[in-house]
Amino acid sequence: MNLENSVTSDLLHKNVLITGASRGIGRAIALEFARCGANVACVATTEEGARKAADDCLAAASAAGHDAKALALAADVSDSAAANRVVDETVSRFGGLDVLVNNAGITRDNVLPRLTDDDFDRVLSVNLRGSFLLCRAAARPMMKARRGRIINVSSIVGVTGNAGQTNYAASKAGLIGLTKSIAKELASRNVTANVVAPGFVETDMTAAVREKAADEMKSRIPLGRIGRPEEIAYAVTFLASDRAAYITGQVLLVDGGLAGA
Ligand code: NAP
Repeated sequence: MNLENSVTSDLLHKNVLITGASRGIGRAIALEFARCGANVACVATTEEGARKAADDCLAAASAAGHDAKALALAADVSDSAAANRVVDETVSRFGGLDVLVNNAGITRDNVLPRLTDDDFDRVLSVNLRGSFLLCRAAARPMMKARRGRIINVSSIVGVTGNAGQTNYAASKAGLIGLTKSIAKELASRNVTANVVAPGFVETDMTAAVREKAADEMKSRIPLGRIGRPEEIAYAVTFLASDRAAYITGQVLLVDGGLAGA
């Protein structure tokens, strides 16, 4: 480890796989890694979304003066074969996998009496099972290399709970338990696993709530504003950098103070 380096230079030529890279927070994370000169594999549900994310990463890397690679991978993360395939393809095209960011996520909100079996199963399947599948697939090459970083994007509601989001909060709380267990299991192989838990961030996922109640939300956030996707990306790239080598099994809340308010 060379602490004369910056977070940015630590990530030069690192091989990174990011799910949900086509929009919102995942897109900001992918672009931030690309700006740092990392090779970025972008996963989204459609070829078109993944391709655009990869092209934008190449442009961001090039604008920052880096000759980095980018890969477009269309996959549903809740599909076991697809999860294995995206990890295998990243390893074979980049020559290894240093960082996995499980960011893909969905909501299907409803009050408990109206929440359907399908709403519960689908949210758990994408948010929790999908992250498990990718972690399991990534563990093998990381353990072999005796080096790796896993960063799982949860939510403050996984810590605090939230009325109307029973399924989503359960999936995000589950992700914390999953990550803490992986941290213990893989620490001896020099693989760290941490959670970044965003508060309320300006993306498609929050568009409807922001339209209805942006001022009310802002009034509940101690820093007085909604978060920007890049602000989550900075926490993720820090946890992927050499400066975070001694941090594992932690939950980093990036929420403008909301959970503690
Ligand atoms: P978003 O704008 O809705 O984007 C979701 C991303 O996940 C898209 O790239 C989407 O791909 C991808 N995705 C969804 N289902 C998928 C699947 N089955 N397989 C592969 N990819 C899939 O969401 P966001 O707000 O950026 O949220 C990103 C993460 O942060 C999520 O895990 C979310 O729970 C978490 N989070 C967000 C907030 C917030 O305030 N926004 C707060 C706390 C936590 P397509 O474009 O192909 O659909």
